[in-house]
This record gives sequence, C-alpha cells and structure tokens, in this order.
Amino acid sequence: MLTNIIEQIERFVLHLEPQHSVAFLNVTPQWAIEKMQRARFRRTLRLAAERSTFYREEFKRRGIDPRRIEHPSELGDFYTTGEDLRAHGAEAFLTGHADTAFETTGTTSPEPKRIFFSQRELNEMGRLSAIGLYHLGMRREDRVLSAYDCSFWVSPAVLRMGLQYLKCFHVEAGKISPQEFYERARVYKPNVIFGEPSWIVRVSELARERGTWPMKLLFGGGENTTEQARSAVEQIWGAPLYLSYGQTESFGTLGAECKRKDGYHRNDLFFYFETPEVDTEGYGELVYTTLARNVMPLIRYRSTDLTHLVDDPCECGLFAKRLAKIRARTDEMVVCGMGNVGPWVFAELLRGVNGHGADWQAVVKHDGRRDVIELRLELKTFSQQGEVEQAVLDNLRQRFTDFWKNYEMKLYDFRVVPCEPGSLRNGRKLKLVLDQRQMSLRRVL
Ligand SMILES: [Zn+2]
Repeated sequence: MLTNIIEQIERFVLHLEPQHSVAFLNVTPQWAIEKMQRARFRRTLRLAAERSTFYREEFKRRGIDPRRIEHPSELGDFYTTGEDLRAHGAEAFLTGHADTAFETTGTTSPEPKRIFFSQRELNEMGRLSAIGLYHLGMRREDRVLSAYDCSFWVSPAVLRMGLQYLKCFHVEAGKISPQEFYERARVYKPNVIFGEPSWIVRVSELARERGTWPMKLLFGGGENTTEQARSAVEQIWGAPLYLSYGQTESFGTLGAECKRKDGYHRNDLFFYFETPEVDTEGYGELVYTTLARNVMPLIRYRSTDLTHLVDDPCECGLFAKRLAKIRARTDEMVVCGMGNVGPWVFAELLRGVNGHGADWQAVVKHDGRRDVIELRLELKTFSQQGEVEQAVLDNLRQRFTDFWKNYEMKLYDFRVVPCEPGSLRNGRKLKLVLDQRQMSLRRVL
C-alpha cells in the first residue's frame, strides 16, 4: 500500500516541470526511496524469474527461490555479466515487448552486446535526464548542439528525449570530424555542446586557434577523462565541462555530475547499486540491478568499472547519493612488473606534463627478460620524447613510491613512445591499458 503511494508520487514527480521535480525529490525522506527500491527490486526479480529464460534457468540451477529474496546481496555470488549477454543473446533476457534496441561493443570483444528497451522506458529515462540537466543550469532558451554518435548508441536517443522536456533548441550533428563540426556549429552559436570527452577536447583545441563564442556548459558522455583535459577545455571556453557515467546496458545514465564535479550523483530511482567486494580504500566493481525496466531487466549486472559508493551528502544539496569518479575498468587492470596498474595510474603520471595530445595508451609487453611498459603519446614533434619521458619518470618517482621502487629494482622497463597525432584512436572507445603479453599467449594457444 505504502509502496503504491510512493510509486504514484514518483510518477507524479517525474511528470512535473523539472524544477519542481528537483525540489520535491530533495525533500523526499531517504526511507521512502529505500522502501520503493526494495519493492521494485522484488517485482523486477519476480518478472525476470518468470519470463526470462536465462534467469529462470540460472535460478533453478542454483536453487534460488526468488520469492524469498528481499535484497540483491541475498543472491550471494550470482551476477549477470556482459559475457552472459553475448553468450545467451539478448532474447534470453527478454520479459516483455521491445520497441527498440541499442548496442555496445566495449573494449574487450568486437562482438556487440544488444540491449532491448520500450518506448515507455526511453521516455522515463528522458524525463529523468531533463531533471539532471535542469539541475546543471540548462533552460528552455539554451541552444544545444550534440555530436553524440548516433550509430546504435543509446545516449543520443536519451538526450533527444530529455531535451524535448526541457524544450531547448537542439541540432544533432552526429559524430563528425571536429573540423567539420566547428565550421558548421558556429552558425548556430550553440551555448551547450554534447559529445564524447576526447572529441570535445579536439573541438576545443580548434576553438582556441580559431575563436570561441559564449558557452554555458559542455557535457561529456561515453568515456572518462582526466582532470587535466577537463580544465584545458574549461579554460578555452570559460565554461564548465560536466561528465556523466553510464552504459548502454543501463540505458544511459547511471549517474551524472553536479556543479561541484565531485563524483556522479546516482540514479537511485532506477537502479540498485552495490560494490560487493571492496579494497582497503572502499573501491570495488560496481554492480547494479535495474528497478524500472520491464523489457530486459538486469539482475546484479557487473559493470566492470571500479568505483566507490559515496553516501555522504553533497554540498549541492541534491538528494541523490554519489559514485566516486570511475578509477578503471576492472578488465583494464593489469598485473605486471610495475605492480597492479590501471588507467588512473597513467593519467596521474601525465598530470602536469605538457607537450602531448589528449589521447594516450599504455601497452604492457615482455622483452624476454622483463615486462616493458610503453606509454604511447601523441607528440607534436618527436624530438620532445626525451623531455616528456623525463617528466613522466619524475612523476612516477614522486607520486608512486612502490612503482618507482620496482622500476629501480629493474622489475620492468618504462618508455615513452611517440605517435602521430590522431593515430591511437580508431574506434569510439580507446582501450587505455593494453596487455600484449596475454594477447600473444592467446594466439599461441
Ligand atoms: Zn552534488
């Protein structure tokens, strides 16, 4: 009964104008949100167990009785993985009629994962995105240009829906070259630009050379970026760059930054978040359960992203708790002579080092004697190599005592390898840490 009332309230909240929704949610007590999450979790689990062949068989095989489960953690070591989606196919997860599908390729396999949705789900996600964007300052009078890649990707569809509720002027460029975008965009004088962060960096570099125009904010989705790249963009435009965090599997946004840019505010209305196993710093793989999906619900989906659940309130006052900035993909963490390294290690090594482009890639090799870490950087002139390598090694010594010790002990070799600008990225996502030792092993097997 109480749950029904809460759900009615939520439905009502989502149909208000965004500014009223934010105000209402901010005064909603935490217990009410938790109560709604639990009720929705039980409903989602029952739906999955009844209608999805994958979940029905898995629960049966493991002796799980969904009627007895009240909380995701009671499912023990049961998880859904990206590999399950690939191996069983999206159809095994369906529980209702689908209207549309999107795909994600990720960085580990060329085989896409396909995720199905309904128009109603797209609509609700759009409304929620509108509330988040309103909180960041977007208003009806804004002029938006989006360079989100429209090919099979969920984000442009959610954005289109969200902007419909904000009633902004909106032009979709798709993901075209930064040069072409710059030329064609300036006619519209957009004061809000959406794109992937690495793409935004390149457009901003062009704008620095050829001229900027007044900008309210830039918004990056689809990948992570370093604080150094963010501040470069912000300086060029004199406007903030906000980031969101999501996956196609989650139907876009799991969380988005507020003006404080200190982690992503979680979408607790639509997801149950867990980090079942954490390290001493509280970081672990993010696992989420969908709470508002009827077509293809996911139970305890392993995101492969490493983060930390932040429950302290944010100074911005928003009701939603946070996820810390994503540290790494668990499948991008590599154990090598340097230590346990992930993308954040190399981002930190490059912080404050000048003379290289926005993209980089760390490649772990083995030269027959020891591991070799090649940090591939796009340099303007190859003659800078020595200087940049020295600056990176200085950071290694000052910022990572353990990794430096291993370097001095010659447990690994470290080199900066110069690359042509634009040569590192050939797909939408760049695998930041590449372990070529495993790849050559696999080929042999
Ligand atoms: Zn905040």
